[in-house]
Amino acid sequence: VERNRGENEFHQAVHEVLESIGPVIEKHPEYAEQKIIERICEPERQITFRVPWEDDRGEVHINRGFRVEFNSALGPYKGGLRFHPSVYQGTVKFLGFEQIFKNALTGLPIGGGKGGADFDPKGRSDREVMRFCQSFMTELHRHLGEYTDVPAGDIGVGGREIGYLFGQYKRITNRYESGVLTGKHLSFGGARVRTEATGYGCAYFVREMLAARGRSFNGMQVVVSGSGNVACYAMEKVHQLGGTVVACSDSSGYVYDENGIDVELVKRLKEVERARIGDYVEHRPAAKFVADRSIWEVPCQVALPSATQNELDAADAAQLIASGCIAVGEGANMPTTPDAVRMFQEAGVAFGPGKAANAAGVATSALEMQQNASRDSWSFEFTEQRLEQIMKDIHARCYATADEYGMAGNYVAGANINGFTNVADAMLRLGLI
Ligand code: NDP
Repeated sequence: VERNRGENEFHQAVHEVLESIGPVIEKHPEYAEQKIIERICEPERQITFRVPWEDDRGEVHINRGFRVEFNSALGPYKGGLRFHPSVYQGTVKFLGFEQIFKNALTGLPIGGGKGGADFDPKGRSDREVMRFCQSFMTELHRHLGEYTDVPAGDIGVGGREIGYLFGQYKRITNRYESGVLTGKHLSFGGARVRTEATGYGCAYFVREMLAARGRSFNGMQVVVSGSGNVACYAMEKVHQLGGTVVACSDSSGYVYDENGIDVELVKRLKEVERARIGDYVEHRPAAKFVADRSIWEVPCQVALPSATQNELDAADAAQLIASGCIAVGEGANMPTTPDAVRMFQEAGVAFGPGKAANAAGVATSALEMQQNASRDSWSFEFTEQRLEQIMKDIHARCYATADEYGMAGNYVAGANINGFTNVADAMLRLGLI
């Protein structure tokens, strides 16, 4: 705590992993002897930099850029970039730390990293976003490479931003190195299903958790928080799997539509018009918009928190449990506070942590890297089949690992232990690095 003062989210993420791995350390004293925990908690490299840019009126702004290259035992650093005014060192470190274990859990050869800036893209013109991305990449490019560090999107960084970032990388390095960023448009090395991946994968993971209890999405009322990339495609897949999403949100409030959220409309509002979720009711008068209240007051059987960290607390968990919620899948990273997680587990709610439930985004990014390396482009169907299988495997791995350690059904323990041991074993074999 002293070494990383003020980085509260980072402490929270480390605490959650360490809480799970006590039995592993007992079984493997070599991890303690070789100080694996101390090593794994210290990033291999952290970069902080100035991002100067000019707005449309000619005013100069200075933002702070970050990249934390946390662990490369299993492969090049891999993890998204977040542009949000709340971003600081502690955000990037918590996300980077989580990313190490999530990536290990996919079974694919990728290390863990994360980055971003305290830049707020909201209300900015396309040209302003472009100038910001160009300035950001002008510094970051020297730390990247398809064998070194491969960023992707996250909150505030979607297809538009990845395009500007890749354009600037290409320009200043004079290299068409398509494997250096993932989440690219199809016309310059992007992969099919990357846009849909995280949300689809989260729905698949929850389907597996439900199936393990003899249930399915059929007839289920579902609530999804957020209305960004993860939320939109989680809603789309839930509908395909037979559930009905009745509410979604953004930072201004939530919409409730008892007939089922019109996902195409949300996509158009958020991806094309860059409007607010409240505008939904102008197109669907039967729906209602509720400003500044927690979306978790809406009764549901399945909850998919897919907006941001710590958005679902103990009071929300109590409401969800009382309303008959039987499964929670984290589309976002660490959206559920530790006490809320405990409440769900004690109430017997199937709880899928982000490391497992939202791993399809990074897994499909790794598939994009494979396609870039072999100059190939796979079909939608083939890629989605691979994604679905990866999610089934992750579910099975978490389930079996928790079972092996006497904690059957505890996906938090399963994900942490499986991810941790994969990385720890590789670190032991690589020597003191
Ligand atoms: P987007 O920027 O596309 O969407 C974010 C959504 O969450 C928006 O609806 C936004 O509302 C809302 N939101 C963001 N911050 C806050 C906040 N502080 N309070 C309330 N609502 C907020 O991001 P993504 O969908 O890509 O990411 C969502 C989550 O999923 C993040 O935790 C991210 O780390 C995680 N994730 C994303 C992956 C991906 O592939 N994109 C992969 C794995 C995890 P508003 O517009 O009002 O800000």
